[in-house]
Amino acid sequence: RTTETSVPPVAGAGLRVPLVTGGDVSYANLDHAASAPCLSAVRSAVDEFLPWYASVHRGAGFASQVSTRLYERTREVLRRFADARDTDTVVFTRNTTDAFNLLAKALPRNTSVVVFDTEHHAALLPWRGPNVRRVSLPRTRLAAVSVVDEALAACPQGPRLVVVAGASNVTGELLPVAEISAVARKHGARVALDAAQLAPHRRISLRELDVDYVALSGHKLYAPFGAGALIGRSDWLRAAVPYLAGGGATKLVTEEAVVWNAGPERHEAGSPNTVGVYALSVACEQLAANWDAIGAHEAELLERLRTGLAVLPGCAELRLFDAPVDRVGTVSFVVDGFDPGWVAAVLSAEYGIGVRDGAFCAHVATRRLIRETGGEGQQALRVSLGLGSTAEHVDRLLLALRQIVARGARWEYTKVDGRWAP
Ligand code: PMP
Repeated sequence: RTTETSVPPVAGAGLRVPLVTGGDVSYANLDHAASAPCLSAVRSAVDEFLPWYASVHRGAGFASQVSTRLYERTREVLRRFADARDTDTVVFTRNTTDAFNLLAKALPRNTSVVVFDTEHHAALLPWRGPNVRRVSLPRTRLAAVSVVDEALAACPQGPRLVVVAGASNVTGELLPVAEISAVARKHGARVALDAAQLAPHRRISLRELDVDYVALSGHKLYAPFGAGALIGRSDWLRAAVPYLAGGGATKLVTEEAVVWNAGPERHEAGSPNTVGVYALSVACEQLAANWDAIGAHEAELLERLRTGLAVLPGCAELRLFDAPVDRVGTVSFVVDGFDPGWVAAVLSAEYGIGVRDGAFCAHVATRRLIRETGGEGQQALRVSLGLGSTAEHVDRLLLALRQIVARGARWEYTKVDGRWAP
């Protein structure tokens, strides 16, 4: 029997925003890769839970029990969402950045780390020390795997970790994670997957990808800010000095000594974000039940977007790889002769469209990819699709870009605090 799936609705669809030209228009949020709007189901669940939240693991009161149960249940929801092994642990963090900083602190001494220099700064920067090897990403997926193979072969004896994104936050292209895991195994290395951009669009499986850790952020998964997770092997985490010191992380404190918890609470000191974690679990359940519909919705819109951009005069799309590869609905591009920040400001002020401009916390990737299009700037425009996107949003964007290019840069916009404003 086949199950029909549908696209989970987002809260606030049809929100209206004012236009500088007068009147208002429904907001076209084409910036899902930065933060995705909250799902309607998440909003309702949070609304129901808000009167009940209380401190977890600390009270006998009914509200405390409810919170504790939901909080611990979320670990199981996330474990299933990531198709983790039974022995894997789920540590709640603030977001992906926090998850990688935790993992960096938990690495055994002298761990060698291999990471592409084109990664998001959250995956690129937390690793420190002489054994960190930043490797340049080549233009084919096959060569990318070889580069990791060679870098691992050159690592000194000892623990090794490869850090790689599932999908690029600049181009939406998928990296060859399973193939990288296969070569990592050959060298006895572990793999940490940055799923911040993959998890909102595709089912992820630690088992099938054969990766050791996955990091993700709730606010990119259609839940509010402040809750994320590091999911994966428990041994290094259990042996590590607690990420934060304080209540909740300890089993026993005496005048002389501290005995830290061995489970995930070891790294979760302080009162946790119970509401955020619960919201994340509801979002994960909604996504997991609807992957087919989500995939079809995004693929259709992405095709519409890329077809339109391909014929926009002066537009060059940024791409990591030469050959077309599987990708999520994120596209970055430059338009010859146009400042990306200015275009983004016009799209917002005159068309009610939200896109991202800049270097997307992936400065090396963005700069390099712009150079490879023949451009000289450091910044690009990024359009990212998701469950809040519609065909009308894409068509409005394409029409707006055609009109902006046709009329040329009108410089009645001025820079205020570094941003263009009408
Ligand atoms: N990795 C990737 C690929 C991302 O796109 C982002 C967010 N832009 C992050 C990591 C960091 O996520 P957060 O800001 O939620 O920590």
